[in-house]
Amino acid sequence: MANTTLNDLLIQYERKKTKAEMDLENRKKNLYEKIPELLQIEEELNTYAINTAKNILNNITTDTKELNKKIDDLKLQKEKILEANHIDVNYLKPFYECTKCKDTGYYTDSNYKSVMCSCLKQKLLNISYNKSNISNLYKENFDTFDDTLFSDEVDISKYKFNISPRKNINNIRLKCLNFVNNFDDLSTKNLLFTGNTGLRKNFYV
Ligand SMILES: [Zn+2]
Repeated sequence: MANTTLNDLLIQYERKKTKAEMDLENRKKNLYEKIPELLQIEEELNTYAINTAKNILNNITTDTKELNKKIDDLKLQKEKILEANHIDVNYLKPFYECTKCKDTGYYTDSNYKSVMCSCLKQKLLNISYNKSNISNLYKENFDTFDDTLFSDEVDISKYKFNISPRKNINNIRLKCLNFVNNFDDLSTKNLLFTGNTGLRKNFYV
């Protein structure tokens, strides 16, 4: 079950990542049509990257200092052109929802280990939170509790108690509050709510 949730989320992440990258390709295409000079620079940068990779694979040593200078010069030229056209440099980068993991859900830490990103952890937490009744807390809590919904009539034959339902529910409320206020105390015992379904054990509204 948990693995299905994670797999579903990872499929969503893959879609988001692909969308961000396709969006970048479209932006680049439009921009390069308007400013062909940028396309030339991009192609030169790609050629350098391919050649460097080829040289590494063929064990050919290259003058990295000179190469890095050429690459830096091209990048600077690109930035200047963008600036002259009032375009932010980030416009030519993918707009990922999460820059930390680039919408993959994982990132590589300083020890080169793949770590689950906080954005994915949060999504998993949200799913388990929504599956639980805790997600209703904003409207179902001690402050919104209304004891006037309970009768203050004492009727043993009807309610099977020698106190009114209102007095009974307020006693339960006090016990619950006491439980919450002493939650960290290890001697505090758990609370167990029992009863048939449909008795509104979650909350009374
Ligand atoms: Zn992330």
